[in-house]
Amino acid sequence: MEPAADVVVVGGGVVGASVAMHLAARHAGRIVLCERRWPAAGATGKSGALVRMHYTNEPEARLAFASLPYFQHWGDKVGAGSAGFVPAGMVRFVAPADQAKLRANVDMLRGIGINTFLVGPDELRRIVPCWNVDDVAAAAYEPDSGFADPVATTHGFLSRARDLGVEIMLGTEVRAVRTARDRVQGVETSGGPIAAGAVVLAGGAWTVPMLRDLGVRAALRPMRTQVAVFRRPPAVEAAHPVCIDSHYEMWLRPEGPHFASTLVGISQRQELDDLDGWSEGVDGPYAWRARERLVRRIPGMAHAPMRGGWAGAITLTDDGKPVIDRHPSIAGVWFCTGDDGSSFKTAPAVGCAVAEWITGGAPRLVDLRPFRAARFDEGAPLAGAHEYTVGEPDRPRRIMLG
Ligand SMILES: Cc1cc2nc3c(=O)[nH]c(=O)nc-3n(C[C@H](O)[C@H](O)[C@H](O)COP(=O)(O)OP(=O)(O)OC[C@H]3O[C@@H](n4cnc5c(N)ncnc54)[C@H](O)[C@@H]3O)c2cc1C
Repeated sequence: MEPAADVVVVGGGVVGASVAMHLAARHAGRIVLCERRWPAAGATGKSGALVRMHYTNEPEARLAFASLPYFQHWGDKVGAGSAGFVPAGMVRFVAPADQAKLRANVDMLRGIGINTFLVGPDELRRIVPCWNVDDVAAAAYEPDSGFADPVATTHGFLSRARDLGVEIMLGTEVRAVRTARDRVQGVETSGGPIAAGAVVLAGGAWTVPMLRDLGVRAALRPMRTQVAVFRRPPAVEAAHPVCIDSHYEMWLRPEGPHFASTLVGISQRQELDDLDGWSEGVDGPYAWRARERLVRRIPGMAHAPMRGGWAGAITLTDDGKPVIDRHPSIAGVWFCTGDDGSSFKTAPAVGCAVAEWITGGAPRLVDLRPFRAARFDEGAPLAGAHEYTVGEPDRPRRIMLG
């Protein structure tokens, strides 16, 4: 007889792991998680894992804020493994033209309850003594933010999920979602069929073709994005906070043994036509460009040895915000995608809210309606009142990093 589950979760990245754990914690019945490779095989394993609250729109900021306690109190909230959270603080620089928007966004974030405030050059020189802040009138600072270990976080969620009875099937690819009339029936996997009353698609960029097959209309574009790692020389070896810097279009965090290196991501992405035919390594020219940007902010990195880098697959939407929804016409299908390279930090709250939706009829921890797929057809993209613009003045574009 065909094996049966109450819920099948597709994908063992941080989102699928969080959904599975929260489903089990809410006694959702027999839960099976299928991962075609290994835990954190997708974007999660490549993530910079910045945990910051600064967003230009309130719904995403609320997701990040609701997730922060998980990183701060992992033992109490999850109870297995560790997220490896380091509250190193976060500095947010914007282009000079966006200073007024920065102030407005800090006000919006403080209204939610987020611990953030503006700092001027003198305070910045105390927080980041080796950085060049001559161009900065004010930056936003978040003392409670920082970075986590994305692989450890995923394993922590999975370990707790397993303790709560979730069956985790690694090396098991979901090849199709089975439906009949307007209800999900289960999934076809590389190991055979599994009947299920609910299916959660959390396959990262690989969710895009699955959603297309299910007739979901949403502008989703898988992209390859890279990072490079540089060892800090003695003159700049002091620990530093994480940073998102739209002036120089980059983000960075401490990385590696003793966090003695700095990981840099710059705003350069490549569309992915073939989801499995791309290099997971960093390109040489990318590393050079990343160094150039890094040196503008941290001049002492001019002689920093390059220590490597990597690439991962993220998914962009037209408004740069995630899609977290249920299928509009097939009951029992949920999906979380369109991460825009920014959905590690929000995975705890997303997992909790999706589990609440499946088991209780509606998300409670956070409002997920702003992330509905139909917003694009409705002509109602999710946008903050004060989105930043960067790049040439005649070619402004939105940018979301980290
Ligand atoms: C370089 C880089 C830096 C980033 N930095 C940050 C950051 O600083 N902060 C932040 O918040 N976010 C960041 N992100 C984004 C973040 O990592 C992702 O948003 C998040 O990890 C997405 O998790 P996920 O579980 O949805 O997807 P993924 O991690 O991609 O996981 C999907 C999983 O599903 C599996 N899968 C796919 N299809 C199937 C199938 N058919 N059957 C079975 N299994 C399947 C895959 O093998 C994979 O393991 C970054 C991403 C990258 C690439």
